[in-house]
Amino acid sequence: MTLAVEESRIAEVVGSLSGKLLINGEWVDSASGQTFESLNPATEEVLASVARGAAEDVDRAVRAARAAFADDAVWRRMPHGQRGRIMHTLGDLILDHLEEFALLESLDNGKPFTVAKIADVPLAADLFHYMSGWATKIEGNTIPMSASDQDAYLGFTLREPVGVCGQIIPWNFPLLMAAWKIAPVLAAGCTTVLKPAEQTPLSALLLGELAMQAGLPPGVLNIVTGYGEAGAALAAHPDVDKVAFTGSTEVGKEIVKAAAGNLKKVTLELGGKSPNVVYADADLDKAIAGSANAIFFNQGECCVAGSRLYVEESVYDQVVEGVAEQARSIKLGNGLDPATTMGPLVSAEQFERVSGYLSSGKDDGAHIIGGDRVGDRGYFIAPAILTGTREDMKAVREEIFGPVVAAAPFSADSDILPTANNSPYGLGAGVFTRDISKAIRTAKRLRAGTVWVNTWNVFDAALPFGGYKESGWGREMGHAVFNNYLETKTVITDLS
Ligand code: NAP
Ligand code: MG
Repeated sequence: MTLAVEESRIAEVVGSLSGKLLINGEWVDSASGQTFESLNPATEEVLASVARGAAEDVDRAVRAARAAFADDAVWRRMPHGQRGRIMHTLGDLILDHLEEFALLESLDNGKPFTVAKIADVPLAADLFHYMSGWATKIEGNTIPMSASDQDAYLGFTLREPVGVCGQIIPWNFPLLMAAWKIAPVLAAGCTTVLKPAEQTPLSALLLGELAMQAGLPPGVLNIVTGYGEAGAALAAHPDVDKVAFTGSTEVGKEIVKAAAGNLKKVTLELGGKSPNVVYADADLDKAIAGSANAIFFNQGECCVAGSRLYVEESVYDQVVEGVAEQARSIKLGNGLDPATTMGPLVSAEQFERVSGYLSSGKDDGAHIIGGDRVGDRGYFIAPAILTGTREDMKAVREEIFGPVVAAAPFSADSDILPTANNSPYGLGAGVFTRDISKAIRTAKRLRAGTVWVNTWNVFDAALPFGGYKESGWGREMGHAVFNNYLETKTVITDLS
């Protein structure tokens, strides 16, 4: 195998990272002096050693973020245009370091380098560019009052930053999730402490370095790498005003409990079990390619993975065979091999989890196409399709977070949407049909935060994203995200 990036370059990029915590503009060791290792899931080899931040470090970082949020601090006094320019510069710097970021994402998470180069990294840069424009466009309203003489009072609103944020992110899109969290916080004028996932801490370290190069004042962005204990300390910290979390629904519920101590504001982006409905009148080439992309993109480690595929009976065999054909054409391998189109799962734990769901599907009587372990080193699982499923099977109900789709037929005279909506989750959904009215009617009835019509996995910095039901609270991206990071203050002035 010839790697897309030379070994010496890999050593140089990984070696350039501090491996420390970013607190108040400085790279520091953890209070305990402890570190942990980040592994390459394709080789199971150690990539780097990183500081293990815990409660004491979180406390230090929160104090730095609080000081940076003080009324007279540089960040609060800074003209909003300058804040926007710093963010824009950071977006530019991400693009200047596109190759390094793509390399770190591939090494740390396992995803193909080629995918990170065209998706994760440019989308992260775009998020900073898009959000930089909002720094100068956050406005209140002048509001005519309803019950008093219009000349008696002037009522208006100010939108003000919520304060110190704690932001906890997962490992599936490490850089992109950091961007989704940090960029709106900066545009809103808040300060933050970011806790990356233990499996994938590396790209956040480069992002922190570049944020300082872009001119972000010390303490505005703090980064505490570490285990779940650091996330728990952040969610419970009495001087954090707001916590934003992306990850499992299970931990999301823990965050809500931890946040109750000081009633900090909470937003959550949690799991999914997204239904994908293919009607017989769909463009089947598009439906097959779209359905395969829906579940196999990013090794299936996507919160919006189209993991429940419902296909109208008359085209069921053709669609399932088409998706199976796409699965067979996927080239599993080391993310740095230019031929690779699917990397390993992120960790041994995730490998066990996905394998467990495949076994449970089999035990429950489903037929499995694919799904074998590939090789004996690295966490590779071949993409899989479950057929002959029932709605009550664990593998059909629960989020697997791997390249595993459960397919089921439905008859032309039945209504599939109650089944599609019968899930505690409501993050993503999709419909394939050539009938525009049916498409829109279906999109309106699907209970999900994002519905794709004749496509999947299209995201944009300008489009709000988030979940119905147990898939979360609040929206990320677009201008909707500012509801998460701004307070509304009403000012009433007596004009007499
Ligand atoms: P997770 O435990 O929810 O981890 C997400 C983040 O929360 C990580 O930074 C994690 O730190 C941190 N964390 C863990 N326990 C915490 C606690 N008690 N309080 C505060 N923060 C805490 O997710 P996971 O274990 O990596 O993955 C498990 C499953 O979650 C996956 O199989 C998938 O179903 C789901 N998941 C969903 C998404 C999504 O985008 N919605 C992303 C990833 C995973 P550590 O990394 O140190 O544990
Ligand atoms: Mg790793």
